[in-house]
Amino acid sequence: MKLKPFKQGVLALAAAAVLSGCDTTTLKTIPSELGKTSSMAELKASLAKPGTVEFTKHLSANWAINLSGLLNLEHPKAVKAGLEDRQEPIEIYLYSLQHPTRGAFLVDSGVSEKLLPGSTESDLSYLVKMGMGTDAIKVNRTTKSISSELAGGVQGVFLTHIHIDHILGISDLPVGIEVFIGPGDARLNNLTNAAVQGSTDRLLVNAGVLREWQFEESEGEQASVIDIFGDGSVWAIHSPGHTPGTTAYLINSTEGPQLLTGDACHTRWGWEHQVEPGSFSVNPEQSVVSLNMLEGLVKAFPQITVHMGHQSLIE
Ligand SMILES: [Zn+2]
Repeated sequence: MKLKPFKQGVLALAAAAVLSGCDTTTLKTIPSELGKTSSMAELKASLAKPGTVEFTKHLSANWAINLSGLLNLEHPKAVKAGLEDRQEPIEIYLYSLQHPTRGAFLVDSGVSEKLLPGSTESDLSYLVKMGMGTDAIKVNRTTKSISSELAGGVQGVFLTHIHIDHILGISDLPVGIEVFIGPGDARLNNLTNAAVQGSTDRLLVNAGVLREWQFEESEGEQASVIDIFGDGSVWAIHSPGHTPGTTAYLINSTEGPQLLTGDACHTRWGWEHQVEPGSFSVNPEQSVVSLNMLEGLVKAFPQITVHMGHQSLIE
């Protein structure tokens, strides 16, 4: 079979992906100056005080993706429930936080105007579009539109992790926007990144550099946590497994505490049955530990509202 030059190019890229690994991104990382090391005990104590942050969850887009990537279908509970691989409807979220003195911040980044139908601009390579099926993403609301309504403009973005579907909105934010990530995500070297790195770099270009949370492991602690503003209002919780730096966030909002699990748990079924993520995650054992830690926190403090990475609990 004779291949057209374009297809040959795609195959060459795919071959490169097979032959050598790459980091997630070539962007430089620096230690975050924001945030101070704290403890789970302090996080839990903060839940007793009235929240001060205005929290809003935005539905940025709808999509569908393989359930086997989102959920470990080999888990005995999934087998017993008869779950099989299928295209699972998912949602892409953006969370906005309005802090009383520090201004507006986002958790994850939603989707940019470049994802709108008819847009002639794209940061995604042909290979990423085909491999991930990103043309099926249906935009509900762009990050430009959401951020235009936030008082004082967006001061920074707290990412749950660096995967394409969590950084699609960065290009709607100003050049120099401060973007915060968990440790190790930028330098995760694997074969997939050989095909995805270029797209990741383009999506993150407005950040310039990436600021890494400085989590500190300590003996006997269930998780490493950071008090982001030093006032107990917003917490970063290291929840590795999906990626090395996967970070959950706990927001003490004016409507009670909100836990954003990121992709430490993608689905409603996964949360309700305590079944860890599937093949999209790099470390299944760590995924189990992190999910159990987050589930344990919510069991001990049922006033916490939980927001999974890609689906919502039905109230
Ligand atoms: Zn995701």
